[in-house]
Amino acid sequence: MNLAKKKTVGRFAPSPTGTLHFGSLVAAVGSYVLARQAAGKWLLRMEDIDTPRVVPGAADSILAELEAYGFEWDGDVLYQSSRFERYEEVLQWLRSRGLLFDCGCTRKEILASAPAPGEEGPRYPGTCRQGLPPGRHPRAQRIKVPDGLFCFIDGVFGAVEQHLADAVGDFVLKRADGIYAYQLAVVIDDIDCGVNQVVRGADLLSSTARQIYLHACFDAVPPKYIHLPLALGGDDEKLSKRHGDFGLDHNDQSANLIQALKFLGQNPVADLSGAPAEEILRWAIDNFVLKDIPQVPVRADQL
Ligand code: GLU
Repeated sequence: MNLAKKKTVGRFAPSPTGTLHFGSLVAAVGSYVLARQAAGKWLLRMEDIDTPRVVPGAADSILAELEAYGFEWDGDVLYQSSRFERYEEVLQWLRSRGLLFDCGCTRKEILASAPAPGEEGPRYPGTCRQGLPPGRHPRAQRIKVPDGLFCFIDGVFGAVEQHLADAVGDFVLKRADGIYAYQLAVVIDDIDCGVNQVVRGADLLSSTARQIYLHACFDAVPPKYIHLPLALGGDDEKLSKRHGDFGLDHNDQSANLIQALKFLGQNPVADLSGAPAEEILRWAIDNFVLKDIPQVPVRADQL
């Protein structure tokens, strides 16, 4: 029996749909500090899979911003756009196991026939699960979801459970427009890269059961999940591009890092104010306390 503790492998996985905003800086800080605190690796992945949403130049500007903040990642940046063959191979493997099926339904049809709304919009009613009805053409590819509860212990939110079949239903792994779904790409990339610690925003808490189920399909141990509170804009909505660079003065990395640490419930010492970004990150690696991260969303303008 090998009792040696596995080295922690964390990651940060921004979507290049804009520049770094406060919410993504918080995820970068949390994932980086918790990986380094465990003397682990920190990988960087560009989630540029949803090609129509990718903003040209955004990936490079995010990389430049991360460097300016003093983050040091291990190895090369992984671009999801370079992995389509791998995703296709995995879909075929799932199909050979009878887990994947073609679905001919449009969004409108699903909306009209969904017996009850799921947690994230209309729950898939299972129309094409046993085969495409006559005359229908394949659009999306979906995975069959078993009837059962998926549970995990989140590092911040504690015990979380979701009955996937009731909340979501058979979900899409390849969309009707040919794009591989985020749920598939994120799991395959985390498995292939040996990621065993996922630190990210709480907006993805409700995707986690789907990802744990996919890990099980591949006989992989799911990573440890740590979801960070959401940063809200002044309108109490999740902070996004819509709010502009809210809270981020790109010329003052030190102030932004201190703000991100406070947001995560930490108490950066007053001496750190104006210190170089690298020094603030070093302080955070030495002093960050996981259990001080709050669960409640915080308005970034009220820190
Ligand atoms: N790309 C996602 C985002 O920017 C993060 C995905 C993840 O960490 O699993 O919100």
